[in-house]
This record gives sequence, C-alpha cells and structure tokens, in this order.
Amino acid sequence: MRVIVLLGAPGAGKGTQAPLLSASLGLPHIATGELFRSAARAGTALGLEAKSYMDRGELVPDDLTVRMLLERLRQADAESGAILDGFPRTVAQAAALDGALAAEGGHVEQVPYIELPEEELFNRLSGRWICRAAGHPYHLRLNPPRVPGVCDEEGSPLYQRSDDVPDVVRARLAAQLAPFHEVVDYYRRAGVLAPVDGDQSVEAVTSALLDTLLAAGERG
Ligand code: AMP
Repeated sequence: MRVIVLLGAPGAGKGTQAPLLSASLGLPHIATGELFRSAARAGTALGLEAKSYMDRGELVPDDLTVRMLLERLRQADAESGAILDGFPRTVAQAAALDGALAAEGGHVEQVPYIELPEEELFNRLSGRWICRAAGHPYHLRLNPPRVPGVCDEEGSPLYQRSDDVPDVVRARLAAQLAPFHEVVDYYRRAGVLAPVDGDQSVEAVTSALLDTLLAAGERG
C-alpha cells in the first residue's frame, strides 16, 4: 500500500496539485476537507459537527477526523494506496495514521511538502474560487479560468468557499499554522519529507512533485 501525504499549509496548492498527482500515479486523492464538506452538504451528524469548526476556521477534533479518514482508506479504491491532502494536520493525527498503517505492515512512504512563504498563503486563499461540480480550484489572478466564473473542465459555475472570506482565512492561518509546522517536523524527523518550492507556476510545481515522487519510487 503506497500512502503519500501531500503536505502544505492552507493555500499552498495541495488541492490543485493532488488531482494531477492522482492522475499520474493512479492513486485516489483523499482530501479530509472535501470529505467534511460533502458530509455537511448531506446533513449527516458528522458533517454538521465538522461544519461548526470549519466555519470558525478551527481544526475539527482529532478523533472525528481520524475515524473518518481511516474509514475512507479502507474503501476498495484505496487498496493499493492513496494521496492524502489536508491530513494529517496535527501530530496526533500523524501518529494515529502511522499506527493504523503499521498494524497492516505499512507506513507513510513519501511526504512531498509544497512550501510557500506565509504572506502568500493569505493571497492564495482569499482569491480562490472553486468549481461547484467537482471542486476544481482557481485563483482570480494566479490561475484564472478561461471564462470568468466558469470551470474550464466542468463548465460549472465557480463559488467562493465560506471559509475563504478574509476574516475566516485569518482565523484559519492563526489556528492552523502552528500544528501544521509540528507535522512538518514530525515527517522531517522520520526522514520522509521532500520539500518543493510552491512559489512557481502550477506546471512547474507538478513536475517538481513528480520528480521527487518518481525518484523516491525508483529508490524504494
Ligand atoms: P481544507 O479543505 O483542507 O482547507 O479543509 C477545510 C477545513 O476542514 C479546515 O479548515 C478544517 O476546519 C477542516 N479539516 C480538514 N482536514 C482536517 C484535518 N485533517 N484535521 C482537522 N480539521 C480538518
């Protein structure tokens, strides 16, 4: 089972890059934020509880998040592995993932890390618009759709996530950056972290990520 954790602070470009890596590597893209948003849309108890934290820019509690992620990882399409986006966001989540994988003789194989200066994160998040049909992310200035307000791939309207408005973006960065950096250190100490410069074009970041993943795949 090949589990890849795609790390990056909120706004670093994980949601743009993960689907591209997923297509190249043939592994499903699992994004905990997306799982929470779809549970909230469906009105499940888990979704509604998660939404109360998301609306404030806070992290959803670890037990809820870990349970949901492990359930998703047990589905058939993730049998040979997955690309995780937005998980783990705390050291407790990282340790829970390690424990669950170790129980089946596995481990987190690679942790590509999209690095971006903190002052860029705010700009990236507050200019972001998402496709209603499939969640493809755009940026008003850095990665605009061909037709304003319309997804290139789906033709569906774009919307701004309720947690991408400036006040919630500030709250998210304030609450989430410190635990995020602890997770970066956790994987650095484990010797699996592979930093990539996120301050480049979408194509350049994708190719840098694939270079590190393919090089490590050949070594392993
Ligand atoms: P994202 O789509 O990754 O930006 O996630 C949106 C929101 O979902 C975050 O701001 C958190 O409130 C919540 N969330 C997503 N993933 C996690 C996680 N691994 N741990 C805790 N909260 C999460």
